[in-house]
Amino acid sequence: MTLFDKLTQERRARLTAEQRLDYRTRELDTALAQLDAARRELQTLRRQGRSSALEDAQRAAEVRMLQDRVREEAENAQRTAVMAERRLWDSINTIRDGFAVFNRNQDLVIANQAYLGVFSGFSEVQPGIPYRRLVEILAYEGRVTLDGISAEDWIAMMLARWDGDKIDPITLTFSRGDTARIHDRRARGGDIVSLVRDITEAQRHATELEEARARAEAANRAKSAFLANMSHEIRTPMNGVVGMADLLSDTDLSDEQRLYADTIRSSGEALLNIINDVLDFSKIEADKLTLHPEPFDLERCIHEVLILLQAGARNRSIDLLMDYDLFLPTRFMADPGRMRQVMTNLIGNAVKFTQAGHVLTRVVGVETDDGRHQLNVTVEDTGIGIAPENIDRIFGEFAQVDDQATRKFEGTGLGLAITRRLIELMGGQIWVESDLGKGSCFGFSLTLPRAEDSEPLTPQPIRLQRVLVADDQLINRTILDRQLVAQGLAVTLCASGGEAFETLASHPAGYFDLLLTDHDMPGMDGLELTAKLRASGHRLPIILLSSAPTVLRDHPATAELRAILQKPLLRHDLVRQLQILSNPQAEPPARLLRPAAAAQAASGRRMRILTAEDNRTNRLVFSKMVANLAVDVRYAEDGGQAVEGFRAMRPDLIFMDISMPGMDGRSATRAIRQLPGGAQVPIIALTAHAMAGDQDEILAAGMDHVLTKPLKKPLLLDMITRYRPDDARPIEATLDDTG
Ligand code: ADP
Repeated sequence: MTLFDKLTQERRARLTAEQRLDYRTRELDTALAQLDAARRELQTLRRQGRSSALEDAQRAAEVRMLQDRVREEAENAQRTAVMAERRLWDSINTIRDGFAVFNRNQDLVIANQAYLGVFSGFSEVQPGIPYRRLVEILAYEGRVTLDGISAEDWIAMMLARWDGDKIDPITLTFSRGDTARIHDRRARGGDIVSLVRDITEAQRHATELEEARARAEAANRAKSAFLANMSHEIRTPMNGVVGMADLLSDTDLSDEQRLYADTIRSSGEALLNIINDVLDFSKIEADKLTLHPEPFDLERCIHEVLILLQAGARNRSIDLLMDYDLFLPTRFMADPGRMRQVMTNLIGNAVKFTQAGHVLTRVVGVETDDGRHQLNVTVEDTGIGIAPENIDRIFGEFAQVDDQATRKFEGTGLGLAITRRLIELMGGQIWVESDLGKGSCFGFSLTLPRAEDSEPLTPQPIRLQRVLVADDQLINRTILDRQLVAQGLAVTLCASGGEAFETLASHPAGYFDLLLTDHDMPGMDGLELTAKLRASGHRLPIILLSSAPTVLRDHPATAELRAILQKPLLRHDLVRQLQILSNPQAEPPARLLRPAAAAQAASGRRMRILTAEDNRTNRLVFSKMVANLAVDVRYAEDGGQAVEGFRAMRPDLIFMDISMPGMDGRSATRAIRQLPGGAQVPIIALTAHAMAGDQDEILAAGMDHVLTKPLKKPLLLDMITRYRPDDARPIEATLDDTG
């Protein structure tokens, strides 16, 4: 091989090597660049990886903190809850009342010390013990007082209690001495919560209170009895004083003597009124005044009051008038005694404070939806009146219009206060309107249930057609007109005796069926009119209206009258007279009839009256009051004699004093009611005191009416007339015949 070749070879080889190197170098550079990129990439990657780990660590630290806080709070909360529960439970344990909770299976869940106390010594009494077992321990171990029932029955009763939805409380007395009231309630999920309230103290307190109340009541009863007795003791002699003075006034006296007798009587009556007022007032103050409603006749009640006040009114020429609504029933349910008291006060005041004119009592009423009646009663007078500034005061206690004018009137100033309280007690209202110097009008409204009519008016026909009425008082004429027109009569009104005479003279005989004339009229009075009519040949029947019928009895013209009717007129009396005139065969008029008209009736037997009264003066007063009547009276001095007297005499009517030695009036009445014929005889109680409840008790003992002493002659006559049997002669028929 040539050198060239060699050189060429070498050069080729070198070239190849150089190429290879170059290639290798480039390869290396590429690899180096790649390495560098990779390194950079790695660096980036490495940087990134480092920051996320940091975040993770941070987050983990926060979570750890949060966890710590939550745990701390949870621990706090639990500590608080535990403390609260412990406090609650400590509190429940300290109260004296027992407290327990049972689950729906009636097993004890939890109970406080007070509840568990009664089971002390029984280790089995733990949460989980059944209610039944607790009850058994109480019963069988004698921990509870069983009040006479067997342990088994008691357990059964205690278990049965829990059966119902609502569990009634029960009172248990434990043998250790305390008493508890058990209240069991159903709670959510069927639990039962049991509360055992210790009522030992409360019971002891209640017993003490009860004893104190009983003592107070006994003392109060003693006081009431003392008041009643005192009032009886004072009234009994006062009854004698007033009654005797009354009788004395009826005898022949000189003017001076009459003044003395009248003063004794009016002072006595005033004293009695004061006693009544004070008694009533103390009862109202003690809230002891109770009402005793019963059927009563309102019209009659007012009428009786008017009759009693008549005498005083007549002395001062005051007309007492009554206008009772024609279409209003008269029988209602109310306390008759108290109604009379109200009417007596209002009408009594009206008469007391009126010098001349009239006192008009008016009753109107309407039926309410519930079948009761709303009544409006007014008492109107033409008296001194009340000044506007005093109007508000007069219903107050001890209130009198204290000026010159009223000082001369006696009174306690309690009457209207009592009246107002009574009306309010009956659910009504009272008011007054007054014009100083002209008159007053007191009124009250009341709603009362109607009472059955005891004796329905027998519908006897009235066959009269035309009636002539003579009365000088316009109000009277108006009332009579309305009453007669309502009976279907044609009425002609005259204002004087003279006018009546002229009217009759100008009509043919027989035109008028009846003349109804007032007695007391100026000019020609009713009796003068009667005499003049008869003298000139008029034969029509005449009925006289008078406020004092008995005073007229000696006047010769009364022989010409068909009847004398007591003023104010009771509707019932008027209708009865009209019926009698229409049916001459019917029962003869009993009241105040002259012998001429009553000749046939006068031949009957005399009415028999038995009067039981232990007080001699009262017997004397009674005997004088009935002295002129066609009655036979037998007296009994105590209850025993009254029963004997009933057997021996068979009276038509009995007056019975309530307080008598030995057998009192109530017992005597009960005894008489048992005897043959004793159930029917009317018995009127005579009582000296009107304490609340008396009336009831008396009526309960079987008596028909009560009259309060001192006896009033008009009311006594009213009772006797009312109960006169048909076969006895009219009681006043002997006014002139001494028979
Ligand atoms: P008393 O009549 O016992 O004084 P009341 O309570 O009945 O007591 O009456 C209180 C007062 O009211 C009376 O004193 C009188 O001043 C006045 N008063 C009552 N009724 C009338 C009347 N109808 N007219 C004028 N004043 C009257």
